[in-house]
Amino acid sequence: MLETNLDRIRELAEQKKDENRAFRLHIKDCDIEEEEIDAIVHRLDAYVSSKIDCRQCANCCRELQATLGREDVVRLAQAEGITPEQFERRYLDKSDEPDRFLIRQKPCPFLEGKLCRHYHVRPESCAEFPFLHKPDFTTRSMMALWNLPYCPIVYNVYELLKQEIAELEMLRRDAKEEDLE
Ligand code: SF4
Ligand code: SF4
Repeated sequence: MLETNLDRIRELAEQKKDENRAFRLHIKDCDIEEEEIDAIVHRLDAYVSSKIDCRQCANCCRELQATLGREDVVRLAQAEGITPEQFERRYLDKSDEPDRFLIRQKPCPFLEGKLCRHYHVRPESCAEFPFLHKPDFTTRSMMALWNLPYCPIVYNVYELLKQEIAELEMLRRDAKEEDLE
């Protein structure tokens, strides 16, 4: 059963903070190959994403600040009918990364109800969020921990991942013990 209640997710994320941090360190250092962990995360992401309707959530657009590159700025400025310079002044702060920007306001000013006014030209980081389809999950797992209290997809994938890794490790331990007998 997936958890989709946003208040409950935030509460559980707080309760499980230490457990989740410890699990993050564990998968960086365990015997399971990075590619194998990626394959599990990608499968779980596909499963959980198919069960959660982002159009009924939009919590990332309310709670997080999207990052934009120059190309995003040009595209969105055009969609707003203003120049990139006007767009930057009106909506953006500079990010710590060079040539990257953050949407200044929370919730995002382009959120209308639970839908993005510029969905078809939305920033690449919005289209890719929550990034679980990407490779090298263990290297990028800190980002998953940041997003976990806000995003039901990340929260549920992380919970399922903890279960799967524990089961996999138990199976491998049992197999090793049988080999020794
Ligand atoms: S640009 Fe659209 S998708 Fe991105 S945070 Fe704003 S409303 Fe959400
Ligand atoms: S990506 Fe996560 S936080 Fe954003 S709308 Fe979908 S489920 Fe909600």
